Amino acid sequence: MGTLVVILRQLAALRQVCTISSAARRRLGGMRIGAHVDPADPLAEAAARRAEVVQFFLADPQGWKDPQAREDAAALRDSDIDVFIHAPYVINVATPNNRIRIPSRKLLVSHAHAAAAIGARALIVHGGHVNKGDDLATGIDNWRKTFAYAAESGGFVTQILIENTAGGDNACARRFDALARLWDVIGEFGVGFCLDTCHAHAGGEDLVDVVDRVKAITGRIDLIHANDSKDGFDSGRDRHDNLGSGNIDPDLVVAAIRAAGAPAVVETPGGVTGQSADIAYLRERLNG
Ligand SMILES: [Zn+2]
Repeated sequence: MGTLVVILRQLAALRQVCTISSAARRRLGGMRIGAHVDPADPLAEAAARRAEVVQFFLADPQGWKDPQAREDAAALRDSDIDVFIHAPYVINVATPNNRIRIPSRKLLVSHAHAAAAIGARALIVHGGHVNKGDDLATGIDNWRKTFAYAAESGGFVTQILIENTAGGDNACARRFDALARLWDVIGEFGVGFCLDTCHAHAGGEDLVDVVDRVKAITGRIDLIHANDSKDGFDSGRDRHDNLGSGNIDPDLVVAAIRAAGAPAVVETPGGVTGQSADIAYLRERLNG
């Protein structure tokens, strides 16, 4: 009996040590950095890149199909890797076009459920846009209606992050004047923000003070998409590049991550080699 008590105590102590070390690692490990990866085996992709964060799609980014249950759901939930899900590009909840808007909000809700099933920290969706000649206010009100629609079925079960976009003259989250109007309406729904450095630069928002300007509007930045841009300032083009290879001073990307105090994901080309180099670059400057 005495031996059993000792063993149980030792097990309890061991469990405590493990818990503490895991928590301490998260607390002391500095900024967590990772990559957008192929969805087939995200944990293997993370390991190959020494990533602490992964982002991937749960369905065809250009399609309207709902996500399917994943065999690795438990492994993803139990992993030390932080998981973020990117919603399909086809989603545009802002558009006045019913045939796009209604399937868009349904697809966003189904993605929120699928993201929750794998323990994802958040679901990232582009800010969307209205068409030429449409009033931006309509798009912003459509965003409000999206949250009202989700609320009817219990609300989004995964944290939603709206991402700034690079292009379009009628976008809700390209220029920060539009972003401020959007947040005035939807800020109350607990929505978060994902700042993409390529999109800010190509969208015509200066990276020098970008984090302060975003936080003045949203009060938060939950994730950074740390990308260089193949194109110039305010080009409106969305072509990502490896850090230091494009038009953006990579020090500005590092400074944005540091100022935001948020995890960062590179959505850059080059597969394991290209992304590992980008991750190592950021980690060295942020945590080195
Ligand atoms: Zn992005």
